[in-house]
Amino acid sequence: MLLQGQTAIITGATRGIGRSIALRFAHEGCNIAFCGRTRSEAMLAVEAELQALGIQARGYAADVADYASAQAFVQAVAADFGRIDILVNNAGITADAAVKRMTETQFDQVVGTNLKSVFCMTKAVQPLLWKQGKGSIINIGSVVGIAGNYNQANYAASKAGIIGFSKSCAKEFAARNIRVNVVCPGFIATEMTDQVPKELLDTWCSRIPMKRPGTTDEVAQVCLFFASDMSSYLTSVVLPVCGGMEDA
Ligand code: NDP
Repeated sequence: MLLQGQTAIITGATRGIGRSIALRFAHEGCNIAFCGRTRSEAMLAVEAELQALGIQARGYAADVADYASAQAFVQAVAADFGRIDILVNNAGITADAAVKRMTETQFDQVVGTNLKSVFCMTKAVQPLLWKQGKGSIINIGSVVGIAGNYNQANYAASKAGIIGFSKSCAKEFAARNIRVNVVCPGFIATEMTDQVPKELLDTWCSRIPMKRPGTTDEVAQVCLFFASDMSSYLTSVVLPVCGGMEDA
């Protein structure tokens, strides 16, 4: 098994891509600490699903956009699990609008949840990974952070920011054998994309050379590659997982 006995923190794993990453890692023997904003029914269900695979798993209520909350989350995981080997910064939101109609709140919420959270969580785990002299940080970006998108200037800015932040951390952490990579999904079918109108979804699919949305597990498999020693000489990589979309 590729991650036997390791511990991963996955933010935003109560559903969607984060849940698939948690399950994929757990199938490889990895212990899983994950969070959502509240200890919801969905969190309890994922926790039970993971524990049934015979690994240590626990869901935590944490707002990763809040510095103190992220610090408390990581401290609790370190106390409960004893070590942290992998961090997947997956939690993310959208609040779409054209720039001329976008409110300050829409901008701040999206950048706070998607980008500041990556800073908060990286700050919190960095001393532990540094002491261990090994670690893998995987940040979930988006093809929208590379190419931009209509009505998503806030989201695109947050995801482009993740790329710059990750490449800087990759340089700072490389000598301690801590790798930092970015996985940029294209159009992946989840609850988040369920909110998008059907006509728009059809248009998106028509522009994908593979003519279909990706699955959450297709993103999780790429995260597994970056988490494991299969990618031991890769850092600062930005990898689109998008069915061949041209401008990604
Ligand atoms: P979902 O909306 O399905 O899930 C988002 C997760 O993030 C939930 O578990 C939610 O937990 C959690 N979350 C949101 N805000 C916070 C917060 N402040 N603190 C802690 N947890 C939080 O999203 P997806 O699975 O679709 O997306 C996952 C990631 O992939 C995101 O970063 C997204 O931007 C990115 N992405 C998705 C694409 C897609 O097509 N789906 C395409 C490209 C990128 P809860 O609600 O329980 O608090």
